[in-house]
Amino acid sequence: MSAAKAPKGTYDLLPAAAERRADIVAIAADVFTSYGFRQIVTPEFEETALFARGVGDATDIVRKEMYSFPDRGGRELTLRPEGTAPVCRAYVEHGMFKLVKPVKLWYYAPMFRYERPQAGRYREHYQFGAEALGSDDPLVDAEVIAMLGQIYDELEIGDLTLAVNSMGDQQCRPAYMELLRGFLTAHAAELCGECGERTVTNPLRVFDCKVESCRAVLSEAPRLVDHLCDPCRRHFDTVLELLRRVGLDPVLDFRLVRGLDYYTRTTFEYQSNALGFAQSTIGGGGRYDGLVELIGGPPTPGFGFGSGLERVTLVAGLDEAEDEGPLAYVVSFAPDSRADAFALAQHLRRDLLVDAECDLVGRSAKAQLKQAGRSGAELALLVGLDDLVDGEVRVRDLDSGDEEDVALAELGDWFDDWLDDDELGGHGHHHGNGNGNPLGGNGGGDR
Ligand SMILES: [Zn+2]
Ligand SMILES: [Zn+2]
Repeated sequence: MSAAKAPKGTYDLLPAAAERRADIVAIAADVFTSYGFRQIVTPEFEETALFARGVGDATDIVRKEMYSFPDRGGRELTLRPEGTAPVCRAYVEHGMFKLVKPVKLWYYAPMFRYERPQAGRYREHYQFGAEALGSDDPLVDAEVIAMLGQIYDELEIGDLTLAVNSMGDQQCRPAYMELLRGFLTAHAAELCGECGERTVTNPLRVFDCKVESCRAVLSEAPRLVDHLCDPCRRHFDTVLELLRRVGLDPVLDFRLVRGLDYYTRTTFEYQSNALGFAQSTIGGGGRYDGLVELIGGPPTPGFGFGSGLERVTLVAGLDEAEDEGPLAYVVSFAPDSRADAFALAQHLRRDLLVDAECDLVGRSAKAQLKQAGRSGAELALLVGLDDLVDGEVRVRDLDSGDEEDVALAELGDWFDDWLDDDELGGHGHHHGNGNGNPLGGNGGGDR
């Protein structure tokens, strides 16, 4: 058989990219936490009916893009195409509506859609997102939008536009839909085939169309934001006012109509001008006051967003994660000291919290020293030398070549002193004390 490849539309994250991804998610997680959001993890697949109901039968996602399959027990299942419906399902299933409102949840997970592969689009792609459930207060909308803005700030993503719109609600949207349908019917000859179809099934979706003639027609179409009922108008004005109050600059975008049926009132997107794609949204979402009830829960307003990690990674200003080697490389100088080297490396990692490696392929001492240099290690610990006193190890600074014999029992203190002496603080491998950590505590597991 020819060499196996990853399936079309998927990708591997190799170590440097995986580390950068983890850094980005960790930054987002810190911001979520600072706003009182807590993480939720839902299954990779759900019953197909959840998405058919919760996303909408007429949407492209449900009609063309889902990975749906019967399992061996005949259950109809679908790989999660989006994050909101599963979170709402869990909210209902676990009675979270009894908790203090709003219930604030965030997630990081892969999403699966059978899309035509193109730049920046994947069949398995990753999102982080958040949902605030249980309050229709415009402060929720503003807080969540501002939270995502802060995440992008901390990821050093510049040159962003915050686009906003209102989708109205059940009071004002039906009348607007009829108005729009009438307009589209009158201009049917100028619309593409797909928009002709959407006029009947889901007229709001025509705003997504990229065909030039459709866009020309739509620039003249009645706009939802001009047909809001009074409560929707007041809600939207308050959201805009709150966003400006915290330094954001929302721009009204009448085309910003989410393709999902459950969206109501505020809808928003952060758009990057740094990406070359026709569609430059890096994250967006909105209010979905009808969704929880639709999937069998009590009437519950909700507001949330999803943000694609692939695009975020492209525009994040963070430095590439460095390929870091171990701090110490243990070199065995005699065939019968391999077990000593192995045990010393384990002692360094487990007891002294020092990053360490030893030879695992049977290299000669000379080749081990070469590998120590190549690995990025700063120190080589030499064992099995004839002139070493029993119970001691020779430590060689791989930069300066300086050597010192250290008693194994004093190795922990030796490492603390060595790291303290390092004025440049470049020894980022040590997880214990004295790592230039201003708090001076044991920072083990701080990454
Ligand atoms: Zn069209
Ligand atoms: Zn309304």
